[in-house]
Amino acid sequence: MAVPKKKTTKSKRNMRRAHDALSGTQASECPNCGELKRPHHICGSCGHYDDREVLDTAEVL
Ligand SMILES: [Zn+2]
Repeated sequence: MAVPKKKTTKSKRNMRRAHDALSGTQASECPNCGELKRPHHICGSCGHYDDREVLDTAEVL
């Protein structure tokens, strides 16, 4: 197994981790009702996906 020759400094470690942050979830507008929804997911408020109704009991929770 390859072993690092030198201990990684706090500076280098933190520089590497500078790009590790997760970005927030993206949201797109539902074409049916205009609510914000997650991409490639059924709309949570009207139950539509790809311009057709997939979930008819969106109001009944
Ligand atoms: Zn919708």
